[in-house]
Amino acid sequence: NGFVKLGLAPELLRAVEGLGFTQPTTVQLQTIPLAMQGEAQGNEAARFIDLMVSSQTGSGKTAAFLLPVLHTLLKQQAQAEADERAAFERAVADAAAKGEAPPKRGKRKDPTNPRNFKATAPGALVLCPTRELAQQVAHDAIELVKHCRGLRIANVVGGMPYQLQIAKLQNANLVVATPGRLLDLQRSMQIKLDQVQFLVVDEADRMLDLGFADDLAEVNQLTIERKQTMMFSATLAPRIQQLAQRVMREPQRLQI
Ligand code: AMP
Repeated sequence: NGFVKLGLAPELLRAVEGLGFTQPTTVQLQTIPLAMQGEAQGNEAARFIDLMVSSQTGSGKTAAFLLPVLHTLLKQQAQAEADERAAFERAVADAAAKGEAPPKRGKRKDPTNPRNFKATAPGALVLCPTRELAQQVAHDAIELVKHCRGLRIANVVGGMPYQLQIAKLQNANLVVATPGRLLDLQRSMQIKLDQVQFLVVDEADRMLDLGFADDLAEVNQLTIERKQTMMFSATLAPRIQQLAQRVMREPQRLQI
């Protein structure tokens, strides 16, 4: 399988194979290594290279941004779990050395009980111009994380009842959203954007057509500076370049 040499996590490779993808498409071949190089080399500077990608619908662009983002989130989650385990084992050893009772693991609160709901702080955010596209991207993401234990995808779009929306958001690692609804949830403090390391803007040209430029800039300002932004657009018309300048720093351009 042509995806093996991209160095993706085995859980993601299984999903890709399950979907019947045998060879990465051009946009995938070009985007995935660039989006993964920070993680792969442990190179902090490379992590924050922004990308401006021109590619058409049907080119495989969705997997081109989802795979590297999911790969990195998966790696980080595994590292966090290992750290937590090590800290607990140290605490057990310390207690034993002092002849004290061993520490207890914290009890997990029932995450489905609305009384325990808290603001979600996703590591990755994908912005789409329309509800239909957001649903499609979320659907693709759910397919790709099929074999990843514990990576959660949430879809935030207008029209869903608010309580249901908040329930679905709980502990999401990757949120796929339309800009207006996302800002509503941010203002009502259901979602925090200060942990976003990956910001993806899908179909930026349609985003402009639908008048989302200011919303996009606002979302961008709510996220931290140290992140990677990837913008996808069918064209690189001057107005797209302008938008790119508003939300990215000297992006690397990929023309597919
Ligand atoms: P997109 O451009 O992201 O809308 O993708 C277009 C279609 O191509 C979707 O139905 C994907 O499931 C499919 N696809 C994406 N990547 C590949 C691949 N490497 N091989 C075969 N099909 C793919």
